[in-house]
Amino acid sequence: MARRKKVYEGKAKILYEGPEPGTLVQYFKDDATAFNAQKKDVIDGKGVLNNRLSEFFMNGLTQIGVPNHFIKRLNMREQLIRSVEIIPLEVIVRNIAAGTISQRLGITEGTPLPRPIIEFCLKDDSLGDPLVSEEHIIAFGWASQQDLDDMVALALRVNDFLSGCMLAVGIKLVDFKIEIGRIWDNDFQRLIVADEISPDSCRLWDIETGEKLDKDVFRRDLGNLNDAYTEVARRLGVLPSNVTHATKPTLIN
Ligand code: 5GP
Repeated sequence: MARRKKVYEGKAKILYEGPEPGTLVQYFKDDATAFNAQKKDVIDGKGVLNNRLSEFFMNGLTQIGVPNHFIKRLNMREQLIRSVEIIPLEVIVRNIAAGTISQRLGITEGTPLPRPIIEFCLKDDSLGDPLVSEEHIIAFGWASQQDLDDMVALALRVNDFLSGCMLAVGIKLVDFKIEIGRIWDNDFQRLIVADEISPDSCRLWDIETGEKLDKDVFRRDLGNLNDAYTEVARRLGVLPSNVTHATKPTLIN
């Protein structure tokens, strides 16, 4: 493979320079991290599943007119994306209480929220991605009021789309995180959905059994992460034909 320039390496993905200006190649690693990388593992095939799942969700968003960075999938682990200037905020949408909102506010996990609640966290691993208010965001210049309005609108559209996709296959979308980036068309700035949408950044519970089908399986040691992600991919009809699973090939005598 030709040598490529690495632009950025994160915990779960690597970005390389793309073939055209304004493009990048996003590579999905098998690395799983949690609790600000205090818990780490390599889960064979996770990157392949997340590449497929993110492709599926981003393509669906494109079909309903929600702008996003996805251009095309290149191979099992890589996709071509538009290069954006990432806004340094994690945008979290919650439909059901779980995780940090339950800990912070003492709401029992599984309690439906009165309406989707949007939270912003500053993307800063050294600070543990702290929750920030709109006041902080504007005062410190991480985004403008117009950006915030656009981010909320995008996040709610993604929530409606993802909730519907999941409901159709018997899964509750409890919450998720997205990242949003800026692009310029000449002098006109637009915000688009970036990064990835996958079970790494969502909470997904089976409607019937409550079984967790997301990264909490890894965070909370609840079983095999690949089995959970494979089940999501299978239900959505996006299972790649040749993912390497935990199951190894067997010798035929
Ligand atoms: P919580 O704040 O409850 O930990 O997370 C809320 C939602 O956002 C969960 O679906 C979680 O997976 C996602 N999330 C929050 N922070 C991160 C992060 O740094 N990386 C990823 N991949 N997902 C995150």
